[in-house]
Amino acid sequence: MTEAERHKALRKAKQELKRRLAVPCPHCAVVQVGPPPRMLLPQELCKVHGYRDPRPRRPEDDYQLIVSGAIRFE
Ligand SMILES: [Zn+2]
Repeated sequence: MTEAERHKALRKAKQELKRRLAVPCPHCAVVQVGPPPRMLLPQELCKVHGYRDPRPRRPEDDYQLIVSGAIRFE
């Protein structure tokens, strides 16, 4: 795998992960106006509210592991 391919695969895996797992910050979500709520992955921090998503990080959700081939990902 070339560096460019790896970079592309990483980006794609991250997008896929976001699509599957990201949830809106509950503090952002109560604000009716303004920018859309920040979408958080497990253990990700909303910098606006200092809110950290409480879900544990699982190795199968680590896109770097997925891309490196350590974990298979459908
Ligand atoms: Zn927020």
